[in-house]
Amino acid sequence: MSQAILTEIKQRLEQSNNILITSHIRPDGDAVGSVIAVGLALQELGKKVQMVLNDGVPASFRFLEGADQVTKYPKQEFDMVFVVDCGDLNRVGNVVDYIKTIDVNIDHHPTNPKFGELNLVQSDAVSTTEILIEHFPELGFPFTPGVVDALMTGLVTDTQGFKTSNVHAGALRRAADMIEKGADLPDLTYRVLTRKSFEAVSYWAAGLSLIEREGPFVWASLTYQDRKKANYNGRDDADLVNFLSRIEGANVALVFIEQTDNEVKISWRAKNGYDVSKIAQVFGGGGHVAAAGATVEGNLPEVRDKVLKITKETILDNKN
Ligand code: 5GP
Ligand code: MN
Repeated sequence: MSQAILTEIKQRLEQSNNILITSHIRPDGDAVGSVIAVGLALQELGKKVQMVLNDGVPASFRFLEGADQVTKYPKQEFDMVFVVDCGDLNRVGNVVDYIKTIDVNIDHHPTNPKFGELNLVQSDAVSTTEILIEHFPELGFPFTPGVVDALMTGLVTDTQGFKTSNVHAGALRRAADMIEKGADLPDLTYRVLTRKSFEAVSYWAAGLSLIEREGPFVWASLTYQDRKKANYNGRDDADLVNFLSRIEGANVALVFIEQTDNEVKISWRAKNGYDVSKIAQVFGGGGHVAAAGATVEGNLPEVRDKVLKITKETILDNKN
């Protein structure tokens, strides 16, 4: 099955000269790493590429080779499109307006509706870069030092440093492959996961000052004002939700991130067998069993009440 898809990808690549590679808004390390790994590899093969992320590259990933080539919109015509690490086409942001056909969709989200003509969707993979590492040799894509760092970045960030419950021996073997090819695991882990900017921690402080708990549920809210005051310039939660999920007994952690007066981003994290992906889908989002997100219209208090109510009902109904 995947063999036929890989052959078809190679054939399309032979006929293409300018290739667009994109991923989701509010990009994480797997989105950035996947776009850059495919982009650099194709450049190495002599192709013209456009690496596009609608929100640009977050500061913590800008050290990666090729990050300076990533633009927010396509700059020229293109004749082939890769969408990577994107569970839902709406999440490519305004880039969707430029795209007519998606040739290749490579992803590990179980909620991916397979919107590409060629779909490599493997939901057992811990990151999209794990899928890329597996298939790069068959595609003839080279593992240059820049490609290796980008691929390792996706593995490290999506697994929170190989700590998530979906980490399997195969993922560690792929990581070992990358180390053998030159990836510096401790250095990359520090750069893409451990280190936080002063602004990000100030933003956390605002959220942490008002955390709430009810049984297995722990949540925090980040207002637009909090973000301004902390001088934090991302639109995400600076990874606060992963910190909340470390709280003992917090089987379901949520963060509500005010985007505008009428839009709230929600991040869910679950552990110990709890599933939040279906709850995110109720709100038009998606993700994985243990990590999911959605963006919901409405003001912060109203969205928070509604989402908490449905999250509690769904989890308690399924568990007890
Ligand atoms: P995060 O909470 O870190 O934004 O996302 C957790 C997981 O859910 C990631 O795998 C992310 O790609 C996915 N996710 C987050 N927001 C959305 C969304 O609005 N729609 C879909 N389909 N997936 C999302
Ligand atoms: Mn991912």
